[in-house]
Amino acid sequence: MAKIIDGKALASKIRQELKTEVDKLKTNGIKPGLAVILVGNNPASKVYVNAKGKACEEVGINSLQHNLPENVEQKELISLIQRLNNTPDVHGILVQLPLPAHIDEENVLEAISPYKDVDGFHPFNIGRLAIGKPALQPCTPFGIMKLLESEGLEISGKHAVVVGRSNIVGKPAAIMLLERHATVTICHSRTKNLSDVTRQADILIAAVGRPKMVKGDWIKKGAIVIDVGVNRLENGSLAGDVDFEEAKQIASAITPVPGGVGPMTIAMLLNNTIEAAKRQSSR
Ligand code: NDP
Repeated sequence: MAKIIDGKALASKIRQELKTEVDKLKTNGIKPGLAVILVGNNPASKVYVNAKGKACEEVGINSLQHNLPENVEQKELISLIQRLNNTPDVHGILVQLPLPAHIDEENVLEAISPYKDVDGFHPFNIGRLAIGKPALQPCTPFGIMKLLESEGLEISGKHAVVVGRSNIVGKPAAIMLLERHATVTICHSRTKNLSDVTRQADILIAAVGRPKMVKGDWIKKGAIVIDVGVNRLENGSLAGDVDFEEAKQIASAITPVPGGVGPMTIAMLLNNTIEAAKRQSSR
């Protein structure tokens, strides 16, 4: 039976450590600040934004929420970002995605100063990540790496298979695994014989958005399985991209949904905000 990797417990431990770090920064006159921009009334986005605000409060980060109406003009959103780029006590800027269809997400994300890009989505940071230079790293894959490290799981030389190639999870996760010397395969919707590929994985990352798609017989005996998926089922409960009940019989370690990757994503956002505050204060 697989070991359950407890992301909730690790995230809580990391928040404690970050709180100590924030206390130290405050004695030096630095109070890390995060601006969160929410456009419209998407209920899931509201839940995420509130959770981020609460986590900031817990560690002592000053969080400011900016709510803009659904029909806000792109130039108004960008001018808010530019104002925040020039506000010294705002060290991190996060625009909650998805944005309404009339707004070009790429233009908005690129308007954020790379030094305040605590989501790690700006091409400057993704580019630096890709060439192995220090950068603000996308929170979800960064959290996955912390989970693997905390379990003492060896990555070097392992075959890691990442299912999903989004810019926010799959691609950066693959880059981070490569940086840690895994042999990496990236799969997506056009991959042929997907289960034949996943069965080769020593480390399997599922970031697809399809409930319970990865079955027990897609997994190699003893593999480490990281389930990024958050899917709402018809009965209201949450399911990952992996069939947890089947997978835990085969894997050696697995993250649950909820309580695996999700809490780590928020912990890494706090980490990035503190990192950004430190870097901006020393520039
Ligand atoms: P996207 O929809 O952006 O990307 C999904 C990826 O899965 C795409 O690359 C797509 O391929 C691939 N895919 C879709 N269907 C299949 C299939 N049948 N077989 C193989 N590959 C397939 O999703 P995200 O990366 O943003 O998110 C993935 C999941 O992770 C979602 O459930 C999301 O809710 C969750 N998530 C969780 C977070 C957390 O903190 N826990 C944070 C972010 C996301 P193609 O590129 O070919 O279309």
